[in-house]
Amino acid sequence: MEINEDIVIVGAGIGGLATSLGLHRLGVRSIVLESSDSLRTSGFALALWTNAWRALDALGVGDSLRQRSIHFTRFQAFSANSGLPTAEISLEADNKPIDYDSRCIKRQEIVETLEKELPPGTIKYSCRVISIQQFGLYKLVHLADKTIIRTKVLIGCDGVNSVVAKWMGLPKPIDANRSAIRGYVEYPKTHGFEPKFCAYFGGGVRIGFLPCDHKSLYWFCTFTPSDVDYGIWRVNYHRKVI
Ligand SMILES: Cc1cc2nc3c(=O)[nH]c(=O)nc-3n(C[C@H](O)[C@H](O)[C@H](O)COP(=O)(O)OP(=O)(O)OC[C@H]3O[C@@H](n4cnc5c(N)ncnc54)[C@H](O)[C@@H]3O)c2cc1C
Repeated sequence: MEINEDIVIVGAGIGGLATSLGLHRLGVRSIVLESSDSLRTSGFALALWTNAWRALDALGVGDSLRQRSIHFTRFQAFSANSGLPTAEISLEADNKPIDYDSRCIKRQEIVETLEKELPPGTIKYSCRVISIQQFGLYKLVHLADKTIIRTKVLIGCDGVNSVVAKWMGLPKPIDANRSAIRGYVEYPKTHGFEPKFCAYFGGGVRIGFLPCDHKSLYWFCTFTPSDVDYGIWRVNYHRKVI
């Protein structure tokens, strides 16, 4: 089966949904191809700063997402070795742009909000792109189910192992040698933590937590393997290259 579409976006993550919504706001139709059979709402949360909130405002969803998050007003750093505070800065509006904003929001809220604003049928689920071919001024997008979509414009928002980026000849992703564990805690009642971003640094490890709203907290631990002895954080780690 062959289908014609003016604009095809690959990937219904935050990037693909935001791109399609941006086009929709300008009156331009697009379709979004997603390999998964439904919206991928899993994951935990993202700390979003002013630039991201400006982008969400431009898409017309900033205020609705603000209502589901709290502005965190301070950042406090601690030593991972001693647990003692090492620095604290205010994230209040003093000396900052008038629209300065720093909030953490559940990933599910972002993707569902973007998805709801799109015209029905924009996202085509269970559509995995397996290859792309140039055909004159067009691109032929081949799907796993053998459908071919002929399009003038192809936009790759298909994540770290992007088929589109590979087809364009972009370099492979670089291994940043950093790993991450993320989590999200929902309390039955209020958690009682201040609206503050707390982060512990030391020995290549960064552990942080911050409230999304009055009942939920996002936490993460990222680490860069190192042979250096940092006291309690001694990490002798051999990476398996896949
Ligand atoms: C399920 C999930 C959970 C996440 N959770 C967190 C989190 O808790 N905290 C955090 O900071 N970041 C998280 N991230 C990462 C973060 O959302 C992204 O790094 C960032 O938003 C960039 O998004 P993106 O749209 O560019 O790519 P991605 O979020 O990676 O989205 C790419 C989309 O493209 C689809 N796709 C890939 N290949 C194809 C193909 N060949 N054909 C069709 N579709 C394809 C994927 O299924 C995916 O939906 C998560 C990402 C995902 C996918």
